[in-house]
Amino acid sequence: MKYWRKHHPDIGVDDPRYHQVSLMYSVLIIMLLYFGLIALLNVTLFDDADIALYDFLGFVMVACVYSYVRYGGNFRVAGWAVIATLIFVLLAFIHLAEGRNYSLLWVTILPPFAFFLLGPRAGIWVTGLVFTYSAWFLYQLLDQQVSANLGLGAFLNFVEVGTAQIFLFRYYERSRIKAYDQLRQTSITDPLTGVYNRLHLDNTLKNLLTRANVSEQPLSVLLLDVDYFKRINDSHGHLVGDDVLVALTKVLQNGTRDLDLVGRWGGEEFLLICPDADAKVAYQVAKRLLEQVRSQPLAHGISITVSIGIATSTTNSTAESMLQVADQYMYEAKAAGRNRIGADQLPAE
Ligand code: GH3
Ligand code: MG
Ligand code: MG
Repeated sequence: MKYWRKHHPDIGVDDPRYHQVSLMYSVLIIMLLYFGLIALLNVTLFDDADIALYDFLGFVMVACVYSYVRYGGNFRVAGWAVIATLIFVLLAFIHLAEGRNYSLLWVTILPPFAFFLLGPRAGIWVTGLVFTYSAWFLYQLLDQQVSANLGLGAFLNFVEVGTAQIFLFRYYERSRIKAYDQLRQTSITDPLTGVYNRLHLDNTLKNLLTRANVSEQPLSVLLLDVDYFKRINDSHGHLVGDDVLVALTKVLQNGTRDLDLVGRWGGEEFLLICPDADAKVAYQVAKRLLEQVRSQPLAHGISITVSIGIATSTTNSTAESMLQVADQYMYEAKAAGRNRIGADQLPAE
């Protein structure tokens, strides 16, 4: 487990912010170490108190951002604060060093930080501005004969490397975001039906239940199992069975609110998570779905029925206990003859 999780217990592995936060903490620690070490080197080895002072200032500023993040600060604000600190120290350094010892090289560490923390759009603006300023600074130095190495060739090299870096990092960061989104989508989706998979349902149920308990709003789950599905496979083949499952998924999605989550729990079992739905609302949803499924052939002219078990949260419900209750009621519905709903208090029909 990442050490920072103790400061942000609500950000689980499946949270979209997880990797961003992980990266933020890594960047902060790397910068603290770097600024601290370089400040120390400038005092002890290079005897350059001015530069050491700016490095130390950078260290203090990053430490402030660290505690801001640690105590629940906004990650976006923290990202900008880190980049502003880095730019401040880098520009102070190249001014103090006046172009000596290839000091301008240091601005080339900016793109990875800026693109990672600010994203491709803001990243390109920030690095573009800082590189343009640095190129202008270098251009001014050419006349002053600071060093024999600082000629027009050095200036052009800097401009070319800077431009290449900006575009390469932008390309890299865009591809990384795209690949990450695709991978995340795959990891939460059931390949056959395109609805959420069990892993995602499980994680989401836990998160929604925590929220429901805090806000004292009820939450219901519906566990739905196709009746006699094996017979369909046996008489029509597995592929036809697959088509029926896909068609059933469409009915479930169309028959629920956008707020509700529809997912495949496994095989021919589906789970619906209905936030803000008490037992009465959940029963109405289940009844509507039961009707919609049985009222029309789903695929290849095949009609099916389903059995549904309902569980509604109470203050001490856990995801496991709710699933267990829904499962138990689903089996009661099966035992009572299928094509029906199993729930805590069934209204008289
Ligand atoms: P019951 O009413 O008791 O639920 O009867 P059933 O036949 O639906 O239940 P059973 O558990 O005996 O059979 C479930 C069947 O679902 C068996 C399995 O082959 C089929 N199944 C599970 N996953 C898939 C799938 O992805 N595609 C297809 N076509 N069939 C599947
Ligand atoms: Mg089953
Ligand atoms: Mg079944």
